[in-house]
Amino acid sequence: MRVTSAFSRLLRLPEVWVRKVRFEPDRVIVEVALRRRRLVCPECGFSTAARKDTRPEDSVWRHLDLGVWRLEVHCRRRRLWCPAHGARTEAVPFARPGSEFTRDFECLVAWLATKVDKTTIKRMLRIDWKTVGRIVKRVCDEELDPGRLNGLFEIGIDEVSWKRQHKYLTLVVDHLRRRVVWGCQGSGAAAANEFFAELDPESTSLSPPPDTSAQPPARRDAKQRPTPPEPAIMVPFGPCPTVPAGEGIPGAWLPDGLELEPSMLTRAGRLRAVSMDMTGGYAKSVRANAPQAIVCIDPYHVVQLANQALDEVRRDYWNELRRASDQQAAKRFKDSRWCLLKAPEKLTDKQAATLARIKAAGGEVWRAYTLKEAVRGIFEAGLSLEDVEVLITRLLSRLSRSRLQPFIRLGKTIRKHRDGILSAIRLGINQGRTEALNNKVRLITRRAYGFHSAQAALALVMLTCGPISLHLPHEQHAPTIARH
Ligand SMILES: [Zn+2]
Repeated sequence: MRVTSAFSRLLRLPEVWVRKVRFEPDRVIVEVALRRRRLVCPECGFSTAARKDTRPEDSVWRHLDLGVWRLEVHCRRRRLWCPAHGARTEAVPFARPGSEFTRDFECLVAWLATKVDKTTIKRMLRIDWKTVGRIVKRVCDEELDPGRLNGLFEIGIDEVSWKRQHKYLTLVVDHLRRRVVWGCQGSGAAAANEFFAELDPESTSLSPPPDTSAQPPARRDAKQRPTPPEPAIMVPFGPCPTVPAGEGIPGAWLPDGLELEPSMLTRAGRLRAVSMDMTGGYAKSVRANAPQAIVCIDPYHVVQLANQALDEVRRDYWNELRRASDQQAAKRFKDSRWCLLKAPEKLTDKQAATLARIKAAGGEVWRAYTLKEAVRGIFEAGLSLEDVEVLITRLLSRLSRSRLQPFIRLGKTIRKHRDGILSAIRLGINQGRTEALNNKVRLITRRAYGFHSAQAALALVMLTCGPISLHLPHEQHAPTIARH
């Protein structure tokens, strides 16, 4: 077998043939030519047989390493004239437009970025972290399921900090499918408005009678009476199947003369519940854009507030000890932070012992701890709504009598959001369910700190927690012996 055919088989690049292979001290260079005659615009896919000219130098892409060798693919590309985009260098099938890496290489980077830390990737693949950010963005743009905003019924809106200086990403989670479906930079009502604008791009200009054929899935059959042969939209869930007129659910046909409520045809109009924190910004936007949706408070945030209150009490106590120059006790106490904040069932033996000491010592910190656990207790699995109502009432009176400022404040907040908390429990949006995804998102955004843009950080969140399934190069195209 000739070297070029061997490399052709090794590289598995689509639609190319290998012209030449060169070994340099630190890399292998494989020169390839495209098999296809037609030139393709990288922006729109327009194809033509007419070549404008040829670029004076080779384009270079990094491909998967060959053992310890770096592998570069070189190709002399032609340029075309696209009626929409003007002069462009032709697209190649083995790499995304604008990339200096082959698709296989990018695929490996994206997969690793969702699994391992920064140092590992940088060292293993010999690329810098900002490049990883750009690759992740490109892969996400291409792979993200375009239908991910369809069929949303119960969602959560939450912010997560990205980078240190109070930079936030707002993420929308589909509670039923347990994945992140949308994100943007920023937080509060403005960010939520951005989500609703993308959910229903034309909703502001929606005026009855709406054109049902162009609408996203509707909750009820919509049919214009005077023109019977038109297909009707059938309802239930998910991507909307179009059924012939007269079929579907008879009870859902609109009676004559009844106007269709335009909001029923919007995707926001189908949201049943939206969960969020207690700051109020997201709630404002939800009430304006999806008034029918029940606003719920994510249990996660209630527990988080309780943890903050406990930490405040602990810190005050610790400072008191320090002021009393009881250095030994102060030091012992500083180490106690995690055993107080962690769930008791997750403590290590050593932490459990520390907790036992705090209990024995009693006092404010122990009292604060039991209050925090009582807050966690309302979201315990297996409690009925009635149980929780009783527990909240009892908790509120305990908090108000606690004589601990942070917990008295917490009690007021919980009282104010009592309905939202109960709604969350009624709908089964419980602590465990939201926390797992939340923790994953937080871990991933920390990994994305070094990226150049919020878009890259969002892309990594989507790749990890969104509607995308990433596959490694060998999973996408299993090695078979192609006959050339
Ligand atoms: Zn074009």
